[in-house]
Amino acid sequence: MQTAAYLYPWDVVGDPAAPDLVAGLGLDHVVLAAVYHATRAVTPRHPHHRVVTAPHTAAYYTLDPHRWHGKQLRPSPGLWTGEADPFERASAALDAARVRVHAWVVLNHVDLPAPVPHTVVNAYGDRYPWALCPAQDAVLEYATGVAADVAGLPGIGAVELEAAGWFGADHAGAHDKTGAAALSSAERYLLSLCFCDACGSAYARAGVEPDPLRRKVRASLMPAFAGHVRGLAADTDTASELAEIDTLLGVDLAAAVASVRQQIAEGYRSVVVAAVRQRRADLPVLLHVNPRPHRSAAFTGVNAARAARSVDALVVNCWFGVDNLLSTVDAGAPVHASLLAVSGLGGSPADLGGRVESIRAAGAAGIRLYHAGMATDADLAAIRSLSAEHRSTP
Ligand SMILES: [Zn+2]
Repeated sequence: MQTAAYLYPWDVVGDPAAPDLVAGLGLDHVVLAAVYHATRAVTPRHPHHRVVTAPHTAAYYTLDPHRWHGKQLRPSPGLWTGEADPFERASAALDAARVRVHAWVVLNHVDLPAPVPHTVVNAYGDRYPWALCPAQDAVLEYATGVAADVAGLPGIGAVELEAAGWFGADHAGAHDKTGAAALSSAERYLLSLCFCDACGSAYARAGVEPDPLRRKVRASLMPAFAGHVRGLAADTDTASELAEIDTLLGVDLAAAVASVRQQIAEGYRSVVVAAVRQRRADLPVLLHVNPRPHRSAAFTGVNAARAARSVDALVVNCWFGVDNLLSTVDAGAPVHASLLAVSGLGGSPADLGGRVESIRAAGAAGIRLYHAGMATDADLAAIRSLSAEHRSTP
């Protein structure tokens, strides 16, 4: 079973000891951020930093001015690392220490330097500046450009796509207070539906008039915003969530909306994956997914069997259990399970071995440990012992 861990370029650039330290973890590879949203992150061992602030989405590789000249949406460099090419620098340093590198690319979850009209608009007309809408041509152009850029990065062994689909109301950022409205998963789905012009056209082509849909969504959410909790848990099983969406929208309308959104997201992903393969046909593409198709978050909601046919492997979130793995393991592609390995973020090094055993028993092809850069020395010791145990075992 493969063992890998996530890493930021700033965990390596400017720290001459980092490549050997990462090599000593015994991982099969690291997944190094190439395009990433805003964050504040600790980097506990760096000789010059402890807290890195990335104020907006950035590409951490050298941007080709010809590709991006005049484009409506384009990535910005992450100059807070002190370099214009931190990905290449970190990747080369890791390569010299014989650490293999995969590129980690966050697509539709963004924090852009300025508001853009290419973001999701909810049923009330509120824009979500953190969520690019995959129905929009400019977003497709941006994502395929990023995909082609990343596929051309020297030395990488795979591309791992996060937020490659619908993103929506859920966003743990900007001092989030949206939890003040106690919404169920189905209600959050309704609040994530996009009503931008491109989505409006897509609904209309499918025979769904956007204005009545918008009114239906608002009416369905009115009790929740009035504080009438309908007795449904915030997170429940997939069938119950889908049944609640059916209740809120009506079965036929719910199915029509889901179909439109699935077509948009799948069309978007197929073009993005094609852009990677056109640049480098041998480069595996991994996709972060949630087997609940109505979810719109970093692990984007998919039909797992259809997603498995579109990429080389899937990555599912197993921070809180193995349900997502159990729902995808027979989808038809290798599945890697993401596990939280940083104790300060809620991970438990003491339990890691047992959790990996259950993940291996459930049929995972590998694990992704979040996150080697932010891990404490004790967290790293747990990662090291895990790698020693699982490396190259079937
Ligand atoms: Zn839209």
